Amino acid sequence: MAGRPNILFIMSDDHAAHAVSAYGSRINQTPNLDRIAAGGVRMDSAFCTNSICAPSRAAILTGTYNHINGVTTLDTPLDNSQWTFVDSLADNGWQTALFGKWHLGHSASAQPRMFDRWRVLPGQGHYHNPVFIDSEKGIDEVGGYVTDLITDDCIDWLDQRNTDEPFALFCHHKAAHRHWEPDARHFSMYDDVEIPYPETFHDDLTGRADVIQSVKMHMLDLDPVMDLKSKVPEGLTRAEEIDWRYQRYIKDYLRVVASLDDNVGRLLDYLDDNGLSQNTIVIYTSDQGFFLGDHGWFDKRLMYEESLSMPLLIRYPDVIQPATTCDDIVVNVDFGPTLLDFCGLDIPAHVQGRSFACQINQHPAEDWPESMYYRYWMHNDGAHACPAHFGVRTKHHKLICYYNDPLDQPGAQGPASPVEWELFDLENDPLEVNNLYHAPGSAMLVSQLKQELVRLQTQVKDTAPFEIAE
Ligand code: CA
Repeated sequence: MAGRPNILFIMSDDHAAHAVSAYGSRINQTPNLDRIAAGGVRMDSAFCTNSICAPSRAAILTGTYNHINGVTTLDTPLDNSQWTFVDSLADNGWQTALFGKWHLGHSASAQPRMFDRWRVLPGQGHYHNPVFIDSEKGIDEVGGYVTDLITDDCIDWLDQRNTDEPFALFCHHKAAHRHWEPDARHFSMYDDVEIPYPETFHDDLTGRADVIQSVKMHMLDLDPVMDLKSKVPEGLTRAEEIDWRYQRYIKDYLRVVASLDDNVGRLLDYLDDNGLSQNTIVIYTSDQGFFLGDHGWFDKRLMYEESLSMPLLIRYPDVIQPATTCDDIVVNVDFGPTLLDFCGLDIPAHVQGRSFACQINQHPAEDWPESMYYRYWMHNDGAHACPAHFGVRTKHHKLICYYNDPLDQPGAQGPASPVEWELFDLENDPLEVNNLYHAPGSAMLVSQLKQELVRLQTQVKDTAPFEIAE
């Protein structure tokens, strides 16, 4: 493995893998993200351990699960005295910088102290003419479009860096987070086309857990003013209105993604033009997935595939074969350890993630995990009404336990409700529409998966609020 590579870590917000053409998107093209995939590896089973912004970001930085790093919900700032993988890079001579979204708190104990230079959006930030909090200038407001401005900041920093030492640059976009405000260049994109509907758009959720029936993530829950930027036309049937809402929503989402893709292209061009592509690890990911009308929903939070899956493309010409794919299960706590491994740096013993460099450089480990553990804590936040749940995903199955209890977590609200379970056979039912938990013949499989769930909880040192009878 080559020594001291540069790192360009690009993370968007809420960009689902099924809106990336390298992942076979049916609804858009992302030619610049596809350049990363063509030059490296497309990870096909990359999952977040908690499908929501701040917790996923904390898991990536600390290499630990949310019950360990403390960022269980959106209302739990990061304690930045914790070790992050950026600290190891900085301690070993990498120049480090973060531009864009932080979303882990802005007090002295939560701000991005581990970066040499940072310039971040307060909270979610704005798409147009955003304010930034700058490590050198304090509060700073500039005119322009957020995705362009964050990319400008990255390029300016690269231009003035010390070229004698490696860099680790974190480009964290606000896009494609709600409320999806496109820039002028893409404002009319898709005006004359109808975006295809997902296969499960009309899923009536039959047989799924009761708590799933009432989540507020349906097309009818999108706000006409903030999300759709238009009054609902009069005279539509309910079905027509749902279709109209989907088209309004998904077109703005894809316009915002198009700008994201253009700006990724600018950074890749910079690496090419400056002779940096060969020795720079380029990562593209998003903090979690998103429902793009799947099951009739928008948003994330749930353990269903569209939300659980993260796009993860990695290019590192010295080490990774171009145009390859990897289907091994990896999770967001593994990202930091993998990058440290590529850089030849040690991974501290307390870190729960594991380097998957071996899985993508032709030396797979015999004991690589065949399952992953997930937990969403923010029970019924009010706005989305998603239940607290945990679960296990193996290569072929998924078992979800909706434990339905806020457990006094910040931002989680009552009331608690009875425990419910779902079981999906991902080989025969990849769309997750047949809950087999109560089906005849499932008992043995349910028992095995509960054992695996308990094993994973023990391994990561999490606890269930009740005893799981295997
Ligand atoms: Ca997010």
